[in-house]
Amino acid sequence: MSRFSFTLSARSGRARTGVISAPRGEIRTPAFMPVGTAATVKAMLPESVRATGADILLGNTYHLMLRPGAERVARLGGLHRFMNWERPILTDSGGFQVMSLADLRKLTERGVTFRSHIDGSKHELTPERSMEIQRLLGSDIVMAFDECPALPADRDRIAESMRLSMCWAERSRDAFGDRPGHALFGIMQGGLERDLREESAEALRAIGFEGYAIGGLAVGEGQEAMFGCLDYAPELLPEDRPRYLMGVGKPDDIVGAVKRGVDMMDCVLPTRSGRTGQAWTRGGQVNLKNARHADDTRPLDAQCGCPACRGYSRAYLHHVVRAGEMIAGMLLTWHNLHYYQKLMSGMRAAIAEDRFAEWEAGFHAARAEGDIEPL
Ligand SMILES: [Zn+2]
Repeated sequence: MSRFSFTLSARSGRARTGVISAPRGEIRTPAFMPVGTAATVKAMLPESVRATGADILLGNTYHLMLRPGAERVARLGGLHRFMNWERPILTDSGGFQVMSLADLRKLTERGVTFRSHIDGSKHELTPERSMEIQRLLGSDIVMAFDECPALPADRDRIAESMRLSMCWAERSRDAFGDRPGHALFGIMQGGLERDLREESAEALRAIGFEGYAIGGLAVGEGQEAMFGCLDYAPELLPEDRPRYLMGVGKPDDIVGAVKRGVDMMDCVLPTRSGRTGQAWTRGGQVNLKNARHADDTRPLDAQCGCPACRGYSRAYLHHVVRAGEMIAGMLLTWHNLHYYQKLMSGMRAAIAEDRFAEWEAGFHAARAEGDIEPL
């Protein structure tokens, strides 16, 4: 089996472009990973997700362990076969979602016990169990099990949580074992405290991972504070390994993160907002529920090549959103994922030609112009 590797091919400022090679396919970086929470990217067929340009999906350990269950997915041939997606899959560790979704959580040094938000059944997640679940799912990129406090939190709480996560990172590494062709990523914590981020990065480097995530951001601190942390955090991590910013974000968050040296990102935003009548375009966010679109014969974005923009008017999209038709979520999710992947391919090309700053100026200029004027 071929190995997991990362090759950087160009830089523009601190932005980087390259390729992650994994047995199931190449991942062009900077990469945006659509979120397939429950073994589906909601409202999309897997081949449609691929058609938008996605090289990799994210799956959620917490959701899949509860329903349909990791052992069942394994018996059914693994997550790739189960959901009909042959390319790489990254799974999170379950830690973040236990903290945000589960009931009656109890956190100890050993791990977390909790009750399912679906049926109240009792479960335990530890670093060892998280590694086992992600192996059963067949994940290509496995995330270390960690714990992350919501911000704002006091410094003592952030420090204690980070140190627990570093113990769990080491236990995750031990439990992951030797799995050629699969990767384990460690997760840096430390909130907005620079010295804690440094301590966390040092602990992770000492353990050694195939890639490194920046966790504990996009949890309520705001863009300015997040960029403040990203001004130094990526460079605390090994230069020659992928850097993954978890749970980010809006298009301008993504551009700002890539500018600061981030290689991978994921977010539910393009899919979730596609199901609530929201579209992301060059001009920013467009709310298709708005009455201004009711008689608008123009496409959502005349320059977009997605099915929603090629085949339908704003008036039609407005109608199906208002009527609660399923095709509304299907078309707007496709458009949003297409827009996000175009954003990524635009940045990859700009970095390869060392004109990222110019590309970024164009991105912000188009957004400042906003949506087209009403008819
Ligand atoms: Zn479109």
